[in-house]
Amino acid sequence: MSAAEGSATWAILVAAGSGRRLGGDRPKAFAALAGRPLLAESLERLELSPWVDAIVVVAPPGWEEPTILLAEELAAAKVVSVVAGGATRAESVRCGLREVDGEALVVLVHDAARPLLDDGVIERLLAPLAEGWDGAVPALPVADTVKRVRDSQVVETVDRADLVAAQTPQAFRPDALRAAYALDLTGATDCAALVERNGGRVRVVEGDPRLLKVTTRADLDHVARLLAG
Ligand code: C5P
Repeated sequence: MSAAEGSATWAILVAAGSGRRLGGDRPKAFAALAGRPLLAESLERLELSPWVDAIVVVAPPGWEEPTILLAEELAAAKVVSVVAGGATRAESVRCGLREVDGEALVVLVHDAARPLLDDGVIERLLAPLAEGWDGAVPALPVADTVKRVRDSQVVETVDRADLVAAQTPQAFRPDALRAAYALDLTGATDCAALVERNGGRVRVVEGDPRLLKVTTRADLDHVARLLAG
């Protein structure tokens, strides 16, 4: 029996983005953070989490081998599969989902671009699933005033009272996630959007400001400072 069989909670770590806005000569997941690839931080945290049993890493196409080597260096024994991602985040998640065991009870999907993953967030996500929700996402209130703009002109100021900014990891019942990913993926910027579109009930839990997403060089420097601090 492989380590993956009978595992309850699977994590899909999506790391296949190009990271064009970050610049550099390599995909974002391999940009240096505190002397090692950005991907190492979230992978190590998932490996050490008592809530996670098995991990699928979705690597940038052509970077599967370095990803396997990184998992070996980290002694990440929960990694059961490394697969190449697709052209969009949603397609990459679909590639990862194919590797998840049919007996899995929970699937967590996390962006490698959010390195500062904390166990407390994972714990908060699992509770709603146990209560029968199809999915759970961590989110933060929106602090800025949000405006809808067309051709540089403000057409509407949106009431932010009921707006939140969604983060990852996001947790799902596997059947709800699989059903959502069997449909059209167009326009989905997170997994929950597809589950919601398919009629799934998704609960919001308290997010974590440290789970910020690395997009630019300034974000990478910010995360490096948070790690050092
Ligand atoms: O591009 P962005 O930062 O929004 O991507 C969020 C996460 O999705 C990142 O961890 C990135 O590696 C991943 N991604 C992916 N495949 C893509 C695009 C993004 O796995 N084609």
